[in-house]
Parts: sequence; C-alpha cells; structure tokens
Amino acid sequence: MGRLLHKQLAGIELAGFSLAGEETTVVAPEYNVAFDVGRAPREIISIDNVCLSHGHMDHAAGVAYYFSQRNFIGNAPGRVIVHIDLAQALQRLMDVWGDIEGHPSPGTIEGVEHLQDVEIRRNLIVRPFNVNHAASALGYSLIERRHKLKPEFIGKTGPQLVALKREGIAIEGTTEVVLLTYTGDTAVGRFLELDFVAKSRALLIECTFFDPEHRDRAVAGRHIHVVDLPEVLAAIPDAQIMLTHMTHRTDLRQAKRILEGVVSSSDLERISFLMERPPRNERPRRQR
Ligand SMILES: [Zn+2]
Ligand SMILES: [Zn+2]
Repeated sequence: MGRLLHKQLAGIELAGFSLAGEETTVVAPEYNVAFDVGRAPREIISIDNVCLSHGHMDHAAGVAYYFSQRNFIGNAPGRVIVHIDLAQALQRLMDVWGDIEGHPSPGTIEGVEHLQDVEIRRNLIVRPFNVNHAASALGYSLIERRHKLKPEFIGKTGPQLVALKREGIAIEGTTEVVLLTYTGDTAVGRFLELDFVAKSRALLIECTFFDPEHRDRAVAGRHIHVVDLPEVLAAIPDAQIMLTHMTHRTDLRQAKRILEGVVSSSDLERISFLMERPPRNERPRRQR
C-alpha cells in the first residue's frame, strides 16, 4: 500500500505526503517530475526527475534509495536537481553508498542556481528560485512553453504563413504557462516578487504553524505561520493553493478554523491541505 495521498490541484494530478520533520514529497506523474524525495516512497521510483528543495532530512533522506531502486528494477538512471552548493555533498553520499552496497548506483545529480532553467522534456522546464529557509534552499516552478502565432499574423492563410516563414520571419512567439510552483520549506520572502511565481496556476506552499503562540518558532525556523498567508495570497492572486508541511500536532479542523479567521472567504475557497484525506466517495480509484 502506498502511503501517498492522491490529489488534484488546478487540474494537475498529484500524489504526495507532507508532515514537518517527518517526510515531504510531491509527485506530478503526468509531467514526470517530483518535488522532494521524502523517504523515497514507491510512487517516486518511476519518476525520472526529482527536484530537491533543500538538504533537511525530511525532504532529502530518500535520495540514495531512489537511485538504487531504479537501478535494481532496471529503470534508466534517475536525475536529482538540487542547489549547486549541495550537489558535491550528495555525490559523496552516493559514493559512500556505493562502498556500502558493493556497487555504485548510477544517477545524475544536477546542481543548479536561482533562475537556471532545467529542461524536463520538449517545451517543459523547471525554474529554480531562491527561497527563505536553510542555506541553499530552492523552490521550483514547472513551466510549459507554448508557441503561439504572433497577433499581427492572425488571419493569414496557411500558404501566406509558409511564405513568411521562408522569408525567415518569426511568425510565432513563445508564452510561458506556469503550471505549478513548489516552494519547499520557506518563510515569506523575495521569491513572492518573482513574476513567474505570481503567475502560477497551482501553488504548493508550506504552512508549518497555526498556533498563535508559535509565531516565534516560525520566525526562528524560517517557516510560514498562518498569519503570513495573506501576504502569499496577495502576491499570487490566481493560484489554487495547497498547504504542506503541517506538524503532527496540527489538528486539521482547528487549523481550518484559524485559517477562516485570517483569510477572506473567496481566498479560503482556493486553499486546500495536502494531508487532508478526501471523503470516501471522492477518492480516486487505485490505479495499477
Ligand atoms: Zn521540512
Ligand atoms: Zn527544512
């Protein structure tokens, strides 16, 4: 039995699990991308691209298992995308695991920096951006590039367009659709000012603390407290939002009541919780 919850956010199928200090991983199977590896649950092994947000154990523990399992079941080597400052240390970890297991597990560890796009497949990229948490923490936006006829050429016939192309005129422009943004762990920060983040259709963002007495803990650990959410909502006005990284002690019903007191009723409608189990009749059928 997999332990991930199956969800939809702005039309995107997601499978995930997220509890602060324990495990966080979110898989988007149709895009062949996962965000954080958690403890490498079964569902992540077949995913070719894993974007690691930072080095804390609850997000990164499963890296070696992910590479090793793919090798074991005969999948092509996986790819882990991570802040460049963590790439060497992760490689050393894999080298040590090679010594322990008696053979290396092939895989690519790709170090990236703020705004260094990574191609996932044709017309699909992830764009990393700095967040406000541990050193070397990154969020990621999953972005689709769409090619559109430039407005000045709309209404031209097929042969006319072909003729223009032959003349070397670029008849198409590219637009970016920001399908989803995953922040990993973070406090509010400058990343909220990034234009592509603001345009996200779906946002997975942490909200670790709800208790009014835990504001100082949120500040100390550079996490989001529920009172910070209005700032997030104002910065990212159109996104469907899913909250991650709650603690064991968070009572979901109580968290919702607190949330109701903090955000407007229209904003409330676009917020959901990753760790909320869907009602029985809405649960998707288990897929093989
Ligand atoms: Zn965490
Ligand atoms: Zn963390």
